[in-house]
Amino acid sequence: MKIAFIGLGNMGAPMARNLLKAGHELAAYDVLPRNVEALAKAGARPAGSIGEAVAGVDLVITMLPSSPHVRSVYDGEGGVFASAPRGVTLIDCSTIDPHTAREVGARAAERGHPMADAPVSGGTNGAEAGTLTFMVGADEALFARIEPVLAQMGRKIVRCGESGTGQVAKICNNMLLAISMIGVAEAMSLGASLGIDPKVLAGIINSSSGRCWSSDTYNPFPGVMDNVPAARGYTGGFGSDLMLKDLGLATDAAKQARQPVVLGAAAEQLYRLFSAQGSGGLDFSAIIGLFRRTS
Ligand code: NAD
Repeated sequence: MKIAFIGLGNMGAPMARNLLKAGHELAAYDVLPRNVEALAKAGARPAGSIGEAVAGVDLVITMLPSSPHVRSVYDGEGGVFASAPRGVTLIDCSTIDPHTAREVGARAAERGHPMADAPVSGGTNGAEAGTLTFMVGADEALFARIEPVLAQMGRKIVRCGESGTGQVAKICNNMLLAISMIGVAEAMSLGASLGIDPKVLAGIINSSSGRCWSSDTYNPFPGVMDNVPAARGYTGGFGSDLMLKDLGLATDAAKQARQPVVLGAAAEQLYRLFSAQGSGGLDFSAIIGLFRRTS
């Protein structure tokens, strides 16, 4: 298949490389020329503009930072809508707000383009290994057509419903992840300050009703687990600023839906405080630093 891949950052570049490995003809475009050059070395056709990238392709995939980038790449001057041949299929894998995903999807439909939102979880390791989870908002016929391509970049491909529902699934999951991480951070810090060995406490939680992924797979307390960001100074992993972005998407969507998200809003404020203290580049489990006693 002839594919244009737009947005070759931490996630997009390894995803695009997996499509090249699967044998597709790939045109690569990013606003940063060095990202395009890196993909060209892996065998992609380098493109100097969106128009050059989408010429003659069957499918366009985007992996961009946030909603304004998605709007401008699709609907801006010289964007995908202005330059892609009518009927070309579009998949946006960026994490953006569901409202924008639905609006851009509707604009695509007006121009005869079937479009899916397909945000991912699994991080950069999952993107490299081709084991991402895709949460897809698309009608059934479109999902059936794009699933094989997504399966070349991921392991679990789930249709969540119609346009926008992939983004809904993504932001609800990440809001819960932030809340559960803060809960584990608070409980582990309380236990430590009351004198229990954090490893013993984590063992109890992980075989009791407090068990959750943030505790048994990604524990934020240093020394409790190996091979997690807490064991390496909170480097790598999923950045706190990216979590803050996803919490903003969730609370904005909640406002539009007039749906209370009390703990989600509190989690957003805690991550904003953490970011304002200069820690936004640390893994999101580093939020435990707000709770741990220094003396
Ligand atoms: P990134 O910033 O590394 O990559 C984004 C790329 O888009 C950059 O290379 C940038 O130059 C390019 N870009 C920006 N504007 C552009 C434009 N107008 N035209 C062409 N290219 C443009 O971000 P990332 O970490 O790859 O994340 C991409 C998306 O995936 C985000 O929405 C993020 O929330 C989501 N996500 C990231 C992770 C993660 O662990 N990094 C995990 C899951 C989901």
